[in-house]
Amino acid sequence: MLNFRFGRHLAMGEESYDFPPFRPPSEANSLLLRVTRGCPWNRCAFCPMYKHIKFEKRPVQEVKQDIDTARAFTRGNVESVFIADSDSLVIKTKEMCQILGHLHRTFPSLTRVTSYARALTLKRKSIESLRKIRSAGLTRIHIGLETGSAQLLDRIKKGAGPRTMIRGCTKAGEAGFEVSLYVLLGIGGEADWQEHAVETAKVLNQINPDFIRVRTLVPVPGTPVFQWWNEGSFQMPSPETILKEQRTLIDGLSVTSEYLSDHVSNYAPINGNLPAEKTEMLSMIDAALERLSEDTDFRADLESMRYLRRL
Ligand code: SF4
Repeated sequence: MLNFRFGRHLAMGEESYDFPPFRPPSEANSLLLRVTRGCPWNRCAFCPMYKHIKFEKRPVQEVKQDIDTARAFTRGNVESVFIADSDSLVIKTKEMCQILGHLHRTFPSLTRVTSYARALTLKRKSIESLRKIRSAGLTRIHIGLETGSAQLLDRIKKGAGPRTMIRGCTKAGEAGFEVSLYVLLGIGGEADWQEHAVETAKVLNQINPDFIRVRTLVPVPGTPVFQWWNEGSFQMPSPETILKEQRTLIDGLSVTSEYLSDHVSNYAPINGNLPAEKTEMLSMIDAALERLSEDTDFRADLESMRYLRRL
């Protein structure tokens, strides 16, 4: 019998597997492989993800055992793998290459192996190390940009400013990785949505990632953002503001990227290839804004989504 465990790897005399608690939505069909546990930073003001997990690097042998276990339960039929938790590129390059080598030997049908990474970690790695990891078979890196605004990055304690974001992400691109960036709609609140949108577009234009993925802020109890919201020092943006923010962001982009709203938190399914579908994407937002101003039921639906986020 296989034991799936969240947060810890525990051997109970039966086969066990260290199952990560989070993955990007786009990795729903991927095999999840935990190389580290938790987040070595763990201080972002909006993020509840790994707050109760002590950061640990897993021994290579233990990860290899999980790969072997996964082979048994998948019969070797795996095409994509997501490496967890939040910043596994902090381990030694040699160790990551050993893990990737074992992974590809075990699953010859693999076409995609992805991982989260922090921009600061990518900036600190040498380009040679990143190229070695790419050659060993990691293909895509998911990075939380959240915003391109220096003052907002500082306020949310992201631990990286715009220059670090740009350097870390462009280095990953130079090393041959597909670069997938996450933007957090709403993190500027009602007060700073324009700065958030304009500055984020500027940073994205310099990185020109393969994917731009947006999700919308949901203040979670226990996080500083939730506390700011409760105290009244942070005002959650209305659906109109989020749509206007997204419009300003897309309008300011001069990238060749796929833009995706692939998260349940978003108000509107704005997706498309940039720059080819930019006009269409902006028209969709304009239509949603117009409907918001005219259709009270539509407004009530979006407001109830907003209400649900407070629960
Ligand atoms: S957003 Fe990412 S880097 Fe920040 S605390 Fe959460 S997992 Fe760590």
